[in-house]
Amino acid sequence: MNKTHLLGLSQDELVSLLQELGQPAFRGRQVFAALHNRRLSSFAEMTDLPNALRSKLDQQATASTLTLESRYISTDGTRRYLMKTHDGLPVETVFIPEDRRDTICFSSQSGCPLQCSFCLTAQLGLLRNLTAGEIVEQIVIALNDAYGAGSQTPHGTNLVGMGAGEPFLAFEPLMKALRIMSDPSGLHIVPSRVTISTAGIVPRILELATIPDRPHLAVSLAAPTDELRDQLMPVNKKWPLEKLLAACKQFENSLKPGERFTFEYVMLADVNDSESHARQLANLLNRYQLRAKVNLIPHNPAAPLPYLPSSAQTVEKFRRILEAKGVPAFVRRPRGSDIYAACGQLAARGAEKLAAAPS
Ligand code: SAH
Repeated sequence: MNKTHLLGLSQDELVSLLQELGQPAFRGRQVFAALHNRRLSSFAEMTDLPNALRSKLDQQATASTLTLESRYISTDGTRRYLMKTHDGLPVETVFIPEDRRDTICFSSQSGCPLQCSFCLTAQLGLLRNLTAGEIVEQIVIALNDAYGAGSQTPHGTNLVGMGAGEPFLAFEPLMKALRIMSDPSGLHIVPSRVTISTAGIVPRILELATIPDRPHLAVSLAAPTDELRDQLMPVNKKWPLEKLLAACKQFENSLKPGERFTFEYVMLADVNDSESHARQLANLLNRYQLRAKVNLIPHNPAAPLPYLPSSAQTVEKFRRILEAKGVPAFVRRPRGSDIYAACGQLAARGAEKLAAAPS
């Protein structure tokens, strides 16, 4: 792609680019607002720009590099978008409508290099990191599909970096995309509306702790012991629980009053969901005196993953044991599992594979 993807530029960078084309600063601001506030994806639609400028931009730059291949709509209203990058790689985004605000779950990588045994994305391997522009464009595409280009969204948008990939292995494009999206004259989605989930890339957790204007953090645990976590999440061999929780403690020390972070715990039947696992988990978090809450996510099954979800009773029993030991715990209800949009199900499945998949 030799054209510049304008969605990956901050407002200042866009102003400079247009100045290089001989344009005054206000033109850069105008184009930024057209891209991010009005969410226009072609220069032709920017009819308030002079014709000559529109064709100059067309030659050198682009406002869209992702192509929407398919859209799947769940019975619960969740939408999954399967897109392709300019070099033909899959990107998936999930739009989750909620009563008061919407949540968009975006991907940070095409595929993923981490080999978590319960996650379908792992089977793709890493294809590549997404660029800042490709991250921002996912949000623009989802909002435009839900509400139409050029129209105001009826309520606010929360973002979760819980789609395909490990966000902390695409740290620079991720942080740049978040800065661009927080601009008040653009999408205006501020970091406090964003949660980034990591499998436990310790140096990046420590780095995030030093950033004042940062998104919320969620850390995926999946097991209370190194022995089990090594099997389920091989990233644990590099950064075992002791290192991970010490980093979480440091992160906790940097929280502002009232701010919290989250652990996620996928519940796999007869693998990590016993009463003794619950006690071990509570003891582990209490040993580090972590005040984080735990979100329990019943496993979203997908052939060929070798797991079943824990039963509702088992999840509830697990939750009560955590609570009894002073660890706040919540059960996350899956959204969009019928269209392969739920956690761990993003693996670029098309309609034919969906039809063949067990329900
Ligand atoms: N790589 C990041 C973000 C993507 S996964 C991370 O690991 O946190 C987002 C969440 O979905 C993680 O908490 C992960 O543990 C969970 N998850 C993965 N596969 C799942 C599955 N099949 N069912 C339920 N949750 C799953």
